[in-house]
Amino acid sequence: MESKPPFENELILDILKEYRTIWALSHAQALMGWDSETYMPREGVQERAVARAELSVLQRSLLLRPSLVEKVEKAQAMEGLNEYEAGVVRVLARNIDRLRKIPEKLLYERVKVSQEAVHVWVDAKKTGNFQGFKPYLERIVELTREIAERLGYEEHPYDALLDMYEEGLKTRDVDSLFQGLIPGLKRILDKVLADDYYPRQHPLEDLAYEPSAMEAVNRKVLDLLGYPWSRGRLDVSPHPFTITLGIRDVRITTRYEGRDPKRTVYAVIHEYGHALYELQQDERLLFTPIAGGVSLGVHESQSRFWENVVGRSPWFTSTLRRIMGEHIPAIAGVDDEEFYRYVNTVRPSLIRVDADEVTYNFHIYLRFTLEKQLVAGEVRVEDLPELWDNMMEELLGVRPRSPSEGVLQDIHWSHGSIGYFPTYTIGTVTAARIGEVLEAEVAPLSELITGGRIGEVREFLREKIHRWGSTLPPKELLARSLSWKLSPEPLLGYLERKYLSRYER
Ligand code: MG
Repeated sequence: MESKPPFENELILDILKEYRTIWALSHAQALMGWDSETYMPREGVQERAVARAELSVLQRSLLLRPSLVEKVEKAQAMEGLNEYEAGVVRVLARNIDRLRKIPEKLLYERVKVSQEAVHVWVDAKKTGNFQGFKPYLERIVELTREIAERLGYEEHPYDALLDMYEEGLKTRDVDSLFQGLIPGLKRILDKVLADDYYPRQHPLEDLAYEPSAMEAVNRKVLDLLGYPWSRGRLDVSPHPFTITLGIRDVRITTRYEGRDPKRTVYAVIHEYGHALYELQQDERLLFTPIAGGVSLGVHESQSRFWENVVGRSPWFTSTLRRIMGEHIPAIAGVDDEEFYRYVNTVRPSLIRVDADEVTYNFHIYLRFTLEKQLVAGEVRVEDLPELWDNMMEELLGVRPRSPSEGVLQDIHWSHGSIGYFPTYTIGTVTAARIGEVLEAEVAPLSELITGGRIGEVREFLREKIHRWGSTLPPKELLARSLSWKLSPEPLLGYLERKYLSRYER
């Protein structure tokens, strides 16, 4: 790794000095967030919420402090900054710009509505009562449209929202991606379903297990992948997640449902991918605004690369079967091919989070289509359940029996996260592109995995993606490191090789 300090410009050094307090607040908030989901006693909720809200307000005021804003503006007009320095200015200017355009009152109201909406959503999902949730979602959509207007956009109000999660991504980029993806995916799905190699259902999905047995498996899998335990942890939470405290402290979680053992281990492999991205950054970025993954889409490309491209490949699943067999006797008697089929079931289903590699992106396309129309004011919230069900039937041939299986299934909208879903598809497509470049430049995945060369995969990702942190905007990073801009071909090619020709080359 280069040793020359990336930050030399006096003004940038001054900005970074002022930024350290803001960094420290993020660090504290990340730790509080991690604790809230893992070990905090139940009744600590309210005080924690107040503490986190107060720290957010403080952080906002530090970012908007005239002394910092002035320096950032001065640096924006400066020439001759190196790319790390330019990255610092770009990231801070984006944050400042967003905070300035969205008044605190509007932000506060959205947070407040969302906090209530999440509670209402939890009950609505249980009972399938969309009517109860409807007024909250209407208010959230209204506030989101106001936010989009204030942020500004050139073509479509949805652009303003996309940009918050995936810098520079436009509605028309996502439109053209899906235009190529959806017909290709339909063709692949039809063929997979007509054949019976990849089962729709596998008996091992009903297999019960002891959480302690799968915890041992998860730890061995993380050892195999090279997760650095001195810089991370594995804990339990209701929803698996990764949290970054810094480059040297990145923690992951999983859950143990007690049935269908693949679910917990693939959650771990997914989160490992997110964690590795943060762990393998250039350490010269410590304490700076360009430490941390650059966007949700690039982040998701890392998790999906490990989970699917590596983790669900036949080369990896045979090792996984052996490890699982040491702790779960029922698995020891299953052969490699049968185990591979168990982790690669394909079935059109109603629930996004349970979807497989072939059907997953249909779920995202549906949400993207509806969100785009909601934000443009082209559809009404009250019509959503019907629109959702119709589109689901059209895309995957299945129809929800209740809004719980349809429009109410995801938490995102109740959080006010609109414009977020497309990053899942961006991540999936990018993961497939990463696989292509890795195979062309290093070695076939089959050799890297079976030959104990996982370290070379980690190094490739470090060099191409991880070390940069947020230095380069996502589009530039993909162009430079993968010689690529978003397109459906890598994913369609990968799925065809795996599901139609079964990796014959
Ligand atoms: Mg993820």
